[in-house]
This record gives sequence, C-alpha cells and structure tokens, in this order.
Amino acid sequence: MPELTVRTRYAPSPTGFMHVGNLRTALYEYLVAKSQNGKFILRIEDTDRERLVDGAVDVIYNTLKLAGLQHDEGPDLGGDFGPYVQSERKDMYLPYAEQLIKEGKAYRCFCSKERLEKIQNETVGGGYDRHCRDLPQEEIDRLLAEGVPYVIRQKMPIEGSTSFTDAVFGEITVENTELQDQILIKTDGYPTYNFANVIDDHTMGITHVVRGCEYLSSTPKYNLLYEAFGWEIPTYIHLPLIMGKDADGNVSKLSKRHGATGFYDLIDEGYLPEAIINYIALLGWCPKDNQEIFTLKELEKAFDISGISKSPAVFDYDKLSWFNGEY
Ligand code: GLU
Ligand code: ZN
Repeated sequence: MPELTVRTRYAPSPTGFMHVGNLRTALYEYLVAKSQNGKFILRIEDTDRERLVDGAVDVIYNTLKLAGLQHDEGPDLGGDFGPYVQSERKDMYLPYAEQLIKEGKAYRCFCSKERLEKIQNETVGGGYDRHCRDLPQEEIDRLLAEGVPYVIRQKMPIEGSTSFTDAVFGEITVENTELQDQILIKTDGYPTYNFANVIDDHTMGITHVVRGCEYLSSTPKYNLLYEAFGWEIPTYIHLPLIMGKDADGNVSKLSKRHGATGFYDLIDEGYLPEAIINYIALLGWCPKDNQEIFTLKELEKAFDISGISKSPAVFDYDKLSWFNGEY
C-alpha cells in the first residue's frame, strides 16, 4: 500500500500578535511534516470578523518567513504562493452544512438573541435548549419565507460520551451532556471557527493536527463533525503549556509580565531567529540523545512525535541567552 503523505497545517487566527507559543505550534506543525517528508500548509482562520487585529496576518507571514518555516502550497499570488485564507473561501462551507440538514444531522435555529439570552439565565448550566431541533416543516417554511435570520446547528448526541486518543495526552473523554447543539453557520453566513476548521482540515487532506492543549476539551466537538460526515479523524498532537518564571520563584502561564514574548520583540532585544527557533524546539520536545544545538535542517531530521512531552515547559530567558551565545 502506498504510504499516506503526512500533511500538517498551521492555522492561526489573526486576533493578536504572534508570540512564542504560537511560533512553537507553527514550528512543531512544520517539523511533524518535514520529519516525515510531508507537506506543511499555512491557513489563516479569520472567520471571527469581530476579533480581527489589523496587521496580524502580516506579522504571521513575516515571522514564518524569518523563522524559515516556508509553507508548501497555497493560492497562486503570481510567483509566490500565499496562505489559504478562510474569509476568501467563505462560500464553500455553507453547502456542507446544508448537506447535514438534508441528512437530518443539522437544523436551522431561528431563535432570537433575546430568547437565547433568556434561556441562558433560566437553564441550569446555561446553554441552548434544542428548541428548533424538531420544528414542523410548515413552520420552517413560514420562518424562511418571512426572512427570519437563522443559524445552522449540529444535532449533538444527548447521552453517552465521546472519546479520542491524543498522541501526547492519551485518552480524553467528554460527557455528551456537556456538548450543546453547536453552531456551524452564523446569521451573517460565515462558518463558525470549529466548522471551517474541520471542513478545511478534511478538504486539505490534513493528517496531523498540532495545536495547544487548550483545545483538548473541545476536540470531541470536532470529532462529532468528522463522524457526521463519515470522514477520517486526523491524528491529534496537543502541545503542553508554556510557563514563565515569576519573581517569587513560582511559574505561571507565559505572558508579557515575564518579559518579551513576541517573536519580533525578542529579535529587537538582540536574540537571533536561529537561536529562538532552536530554543523553542526544545520547549516540549526532548531529542533522543542529549544534543542541544540544532539548525532547522537538523531539527527536520531529528524530530519525532514520541519525544513530545505533556508536562508544561518553562520559558527561561537565561537559557535563551545561552543559545544566543552559541550562534
Ligand atoms: N485558529 C486556531 C488558533 O489560532 C487554531 C486551532 C487549530 O489549530 O485547530 O488558535
Ligand atoms: Zn432555536
């Protein structure tokens, strides 16, 4: 049998500026692909129009260039190829949601904002009460004819649990009662972030999804979409947290108060891109021997998924300075 080509993607939302954690995700996506002769794709997830930050896409693009993480395909920009951009592909998502409606796996929800707010306060734990799941067809036709705005929601299982095995964190289970009928298409016609993510990962043939462990608990929602379509679920590789050292000697999630966390801020402070890349490669991955100094090319050869750890990694500026001195 021909080996399946490994395909990974870095899928940032341009809602802020690229920091060390984002760059590590991009680097690991790149290394998972390159260590297995695979392809690395860049996809901008910008369907959340309210949270876009001006200039964030340029920072992502330039950071990856400077770091040497060149993507392998994308729309033709005349000589160069750009990243895939979800807002430019907006119209391809709706037919998938409509297919699920036809198959009885999704439905139009016409509930008003006011109604949803009211039930949020009334139902235990908040959430949607599945009011529109079984509207009679005449009622649906009437609401559509009146032009009442609607979202498209997926019918999620009401009982049982959903499990999957993560390559780093092992088996993860979520009780289905915690899952609401998730929105796939919003009233403005844009897909939700989860929906576009799954459609794109499938249509782009992504085999390995690498992302921060904050996504572990929502992964069953993605998997229920793969199942609804009958698509193969990719291998998930969730990455450990990155911590920073506090003044009192404790550690907490890395943030600006620990020092510069933006790639460009670190460059401005005199750190070299190669040293930063080398150092962050080791924030959550342990090479088989004790080698510490790696060029990107060497990382591409040495990287292996089994060396990724689930324990939080600590970002240490002294250690980064040491790496800087080696370049
Ligand atoms: N767009 C998501 C983010 O920026 C990425 C999630 C994923 O990789 O699936 O955090
Ligand atoms: Zn509804």
